[in-house]
Amino acid sequence: MTSTKLNRKNSTELFKIAQTLLPGGVNSPVRAFRAIDSQPPFIKKAQGAYIWDEDDNRYIDFVGSWGPMILGHRNLQIENALKTVIENGTSFGAPTQIENTMAQEVVKLVPSIEMLRFVNSGTEAVMSAIRLARAFTSQNNPQQIKIIKFTGCYHGHIDSLLVKAGSGVLTLGLPDSPGVTKEATANTVLVPFNNIKALEKTFAENKDQISAIIVEPVVGNSGCILPKNNFLKKLREISKANNALLIFDEVMTGFRVALGGAQEKYNVMPDITCLGKIIGGGLPVGAYGASKKIMSMVAPLGPMYQAGTLSGNPLAMTAGLECLKQIQRPNFYTELEEKAKYLSDALKEIDEDIQSCYAGGMFGFFFAKAEINCFEDAQAFIDLDKFRKFYLHMLAEGVYLAPSAFEAGFMSDAHSYADLDYVIDKAKKFKY
Ligand code: PMP
Repeated sequence: MTSTKLNRKNSTELFKIAQTLLPGGVNSPVRAFRAIDSQPPFIKKAQGAYIWDEDDNRYIDFVGSWGPMILGHRNLQIENALKTVIENGTSFGAPTQIENTMAQEVVKLVPSIEMLRFVNSGTEAVMSAIRLARAFTSQNNPQQIKIIKFTGCYHGHIDSLLVKAGSGVLTLGLPDSPGVTKEATANTVLVPFNNIKALEKTFAENKDQISAIIVEPVVGNSGCILPKNNFLKKLREISKANNALLIFDEVMTGFRVALGGAQEKYNVMPDITCLGKIIGGGLPVGAYGASKKIMSMVAPLGPMYQAGTLSGNPLAMTAGLECLKQIQRPNFYTELEEKAKYLSDALKEIDEDIQSCYAGGMFGFFFAKAEINCFEDAQAFIDLDKFRKFYLHMLAEGVYLAPSAFEAGFMSDAHSYADLDYVIDKAKKFKY
């Protein structure tokens, strides 16, 4: 295992160059390690539960490319299938058989989806889902275009939802992003997560104007926060009672908290589902799906326009399909959740000020003296300095967690109990 004093010479050099070429040296903000006042290791290779940086330090990886790597890195079946398919060409911009097979698989696995459209990222999936919801509900009532979003939920970097968003927006303390116009967010209404009273009030104040509620059914972008007291069931009831649609953004939770996602785990059926991450098996993919009735709005079947040059390309479809095949192994999610529980429970025992939780292969922990049920709690109670020091301690010991207190952790099939015991042992040695 990596020594406690990491040599980071090569990463430091590469980061210097990167900063002259890419904003902050990165292609996605949270990777820059600013939240923990540090610099990122540059990753050279990966295998199973491990990643290696450019100085050959090995880390146990709980980021897993921010979720997709549920089978661990370099899954053999995915790699072999990609090698085979690449010989036929990488993209045709025309229908292919594998898109059918992949779509059949998603329809089979995700309870509420009857028809879907593949896109290239989670952001694109959500952007399209919002357009679809508005197109659907404004057919009968042109005023029904407002979207309810929960504070601290991140749904990608689309203008209308980049308000009180989690993930990097929260990590970097950006209240909203410049460049997003007031008009773009004028029809976005914010409500705290796990707060049904506030939701009911919002519906009353915006009578017949709400098109949809969008939610991360298990929040992963303000840290990991579980839905409490039948929150999701109540969302379903309230949205139905108000003729509004319910959108589950399952970009993170899809195939992560259960095979059928959060909708299966909590037995609540949304109207529209957004997918990403795991559905691509490590390649860039997103998707949005719904009933045939709702999806009939999408062009060319209906008037709602949405398109994509590389959408459904054979590489992404192949990687995704191979991934979906393997996660259907009996007991896959039981074993995954047992490992997430094992780590989450152990962290709680180490320090009474750690609040931790898990759902399937997703877990999280906060250094906080109070329970965290929403973004507002997270902002009020998290000890960021303690997290930062803990993070750097763990990184130096070869444990790669998300470099922010406001992100979830991801367990993979490749993590062993020996890996988890190593992590727990190093966490016990942390002194604040
Ligand atoms: N929705 C959720 C819940 C996410 O976690 C993310 C990304 N972390 C997105 C949407 C955006 O996905 P992408 O980064 O692929 O655009």
